[in-house]
Amino acid sequence: MNQHLKQLIDLSYVDKEIDAFEPQIEEVNYKYEVALAKKESIDSDVENLTKEIQEEEVKKHKNELHLAELSQKLEENSKKSGEIKTEREMKSLQLEEEIAKEQVTFANEEIARLEKIIESKKEQVEAAKTSLIELNASLETVKADVDEKLKVINNARQEVFGKKEKLLGGMNQKGLSFYQKIRRWAKNTTVVAVEEQACMGCHMTIGDKVYADVIKAEEITTCPHCGRILHVVVTEE
Ligand SMILES: [Zn+2]
Repeated sequence: MNQHLKQLIDLSYVDKEIDAFEPQIEEVNYKYEVALAKKESIDSDVENLTKEIQEEEVKKHKNELHLAELSQKLEENSKKSGEIKTEREMKSLQLEEEIAKEQVTFANEEIARLEKIIESKKEQVEAAKTSLIELNASLETVKADVDEKLKVINNARQEVFGKKEKLLGGMNQKGLSFYQKIRRWAKNTTVVAVEEQACMGCHMTIGDKVYADVIKAEEITTCPHCGRILHVVVTEE
């Protein structure tokens, strides 16, 4: 076989091997990213809940201030009741008192309601913090696992890079740039096999003359339809 053709076939295998690492790396990273996204989502839950608790606390405080005002008013009214001279004054004072008492009841109910909400939100924050602790611990394990796997992949990749380097060192520039030009669009199908006289890149049948050239493998032959580099896979016996 033509030495340059042999080199291109070898190079195409090495390039395929190098590309195969990408999905492996992505898959490994994905596991960590999922765990990280979960942590971020819980973090933002805690942040939102904390903000909501603050808002409810402000509402509660307003009701407490109102209560204080009301109780002061009721106290003043009871002082005034000693100075009442007419029935009309008494009635008006009673009415005021009734209204104030109603408002007291309402404010107390509102405070109780808000306290319930605050309590439930605080429980949610606690639960979220507990799961964050667990998640942080598992995140460390996942990270260590990911780092280890990436290390293994990287080592294997370095080895293949080394193989490619060696291969490139022995190749002529013309053949290499020819290969690279095709690879730009054909990616990992730059060098393809011919099976049953058809190009395995575009699946078109090639003519007898070209087919004979491919079998002879005395020079680099390309597919007349798509331009990929052709070769016949020789099964060793
Ligand atoms: Zn073709």
